[in-house]
Amino acid sequence: MARKKLSQEKLDYYEELIRKELEESMKYIENVSREQSVGARESSGDLSSYAYHQADQGSDTNLMEHTAKMMDSERKKIRLLNDAMRRIQDGVFGVCDMCGEIIPDARLEIIPYATQCIECKEKMEDKKRRKRR
Ligand SMILES: [Zn+2]
Repeated sequence: MARKKLSQEKLDYYEELIRKELEESMKYIENVSREQSVGARESSGDLSSYAYHQADQGSDTNLMEHTAKMMDSERKKIRLLNDAMRRIQDGVFGVCDMCGEIIPDARLEIIPYATQCIECKEKMEDKKRRKRR
């Protein structure tokens, strides 16, 4: 059985798209890390007292939590994007890993690291939902 594949043209296109997203995520993490280390220096020099100081200020704590969550999801995204990059190099990118069909462009444009077509994704989520009940 011949496996379906994206054309080289499309692979090149998505490689570029993924590279850009990767750069953005890495820049975000870099910026936040830099800001955090500047903030730490400005308070008293060491990180533990910085955390303590911040805990006294409610809104800042929320902001830090929010930032931590953002950092987390950006790191996750980087992992997924790196995986997608590997699939591009292997030539299997853009193919649903459940049914083997090509994932529509409309989906890949939004989620370039998607590994399943919408139908299979929904089927999986359906199964999960049923299990929970
Ligand atoms: Zn599928």
